[in-house]
Amino acid sequence: MAVIGLTGGIASGKSTVAQLLRDKGVPVIDADVAARAVVAPGTPGLAKLVQVFGDTILDAEGALNRASMRARIGSDPNAYAQLNAITHPAIRVWIGDKIAAELAQGHPRVVVEAALLVETGGYRMYPTLVVVSCEPETQLKRVMSRDQQPEDQARAFIATQLPLAAKEAVATYVIRNDAGLPELAQAVDTLWEEITQLDPK
Ligand code: ATP
Repeated sequence: MAVIGLTGGIASGKSTVAQLLRDKGVPVIDADVAARAVVAPGTPGLAKLVQVFGDTILDAEGALNRASMRARIGSDPNAYAQLNAITHPAIRVWIGDKIAAELAQGHPRVVVEAALLVETGGYRMYPTLVVVSCEPETQLKRVMSRDQQPEDQARAFIATQLPLAAKEAVATYVIRNDAGLPELAQAVDTLWEEITQLDPK
């Protein structure tokens, strides 16, 4: 269990857990950073996207214009599949390289944080999977307050992902995040102790 997957739902607390782990000195690789890196200007990923979707997806500086890209895939499942077919393999390679680099630097464990690990099936690559979960009501309140969204929009946003219960079902460990930040920090400490004691390196 050198490589540990970390996921959850919208606003369930993944990034907060990731930061708590970083504070403990654990390297955490963020799949969002990978997703941006593989389509940065000058990458083969961006060149392929332009080949498929045309240069209207670029901004004036030649970088990916995310709003244009979103508009292209918004109502076209085929375009979404094409986007994923280009970016997902590159993201996997990017994350694999980062994992190798962290392990080579002597870190015994690396955590990979990714929002959609369960939805994409990517979770199967991680024999140890941590899911940060909370009650649906807690999730709704956090989305409404963090994103300043009315309830109906927040519910619709949450409904774009698998329910947290479905993610819990495939988890090795579940961190429940319904209380405050001190409780979350305690839960992360307890989990990390368990993971490191189970498999000392
Ligand atoms: P997303 O994938 O939607 O970006 P996330 O799962 O990474 O979300 P966080 O960004 O960690 O979630 O948390 C969502 C919001 O809830 C943040 O504003 C965060 O500060 C807050 N939050 C998370 N956990 C707690 C907690 N235990 N107590 C109070 N606020 C919390």
